[in-house]
Amino acid sequence: MNYQAVLEDISKAVRPLAGQGKLADYIPALANVNPDKYAVCLNSIDGHMYSVGDAGERFSLQSISKVFSLAMCLSIKGEGLWKRVGKEPSGTAFNSLVQLEAEHGLPRNPFINAGAIVLADVLLTSLADPEENFLSFVRELCGSGTVGYNLDVARSERENGYLNAAIANLLKYHKKIECDVEEVLAFYFKMCSLEMNCKELARAFLAFANHNEKFCYSGISLTSSQVKRINAVMQTCGFYDEAGEFSYLVGLPGKSGVGGGIAAIYPRRYSVAVWSPRLNSKGNSVMGMKTLELLTTETMESIF
Ligand code: GLN
Repeated sequence: MNYQAVLEDISKAVRPLAGQGKLADYIPALANVNPDKYAVCLNSIDGHMYSVGDAGERFSLQSISKVFSLAMCLSIKGEGLWKRVGKEPSGTAFNSLVQLEAEHGLPRNPFINAGAIVLADVLLTSLADPEENFLSFVRELCGSGTVGYNLDVARSERENGYLNAAIANLLKYHKKIECDVEEVLAFYFKMCSLEMNCKELARAFLAFANHNEKFCYSGISLTSSQVKRINAVMQTCGFYDEAGEFSYLVGLPGKSGVGGGIAAIYPRRYSVAVWSPRLNSKGNSVMGMKTLELLTTETMESIF
């Protein structure tokens, strides 16, 4: 497959959508990002990389980082993790409180904010140096020792993170997190502030596409069955209340973030990362979704 030509065609085909959607300005530091950035990078299992646009420019991963924290938690806790967090799609916004209250503080899945805040608590209580350990893991996954947190973004989100604070307090009230609420939130925001470019992100996700190979990075190892199951959770929960739409249009497991990134995989074939900061009302990148929809449509390759 000539993926380079496919990506170039797609980058032209999505241009009419360029002005649609808006930046995630509820995190003030993200409102300063150039909304017109666009990048896509595809890594094939057989070792080729294809990219278009600003694929070397780093952006805020936000909720995409939840895939990395899930991988770490599953490696540490095994199946026992599912006592702390569910694995059903929520059908609600990523930061919704309503369902969490109705379900007595047990988050539906690890990719809504409530679930990821529980993951942060699991890592804080299990690791010697959680911030460093998380960073070492993602650096090894993406093959870049300079990938890091953006402390301005983390601080900006903390200063305005009233809804996440409410979620963390509700979790604490229901005894679903062990650590201090402030400590858990600080670590959660830090993981969300992780920055990568599309080349690094596609490389990091190649490990999830290639689940027949041994998954072992910086002491975090997963069986191929565990990797397969992370992909299943991405498929059903990776896009919050738009998970059905993404599955319908794109047909790949993936994960979005309000920084405008989306990472997706085609098992045993490729990983792909796309970045375009303007978001739709569900918090997913407008051009990112369209890019992936066209990718699986034009190549006639999807898991379905
Ligand atoms: N840090 C963001 C938040 O908690 C992540 C949300 C997202 O990317 N969907 O609101």
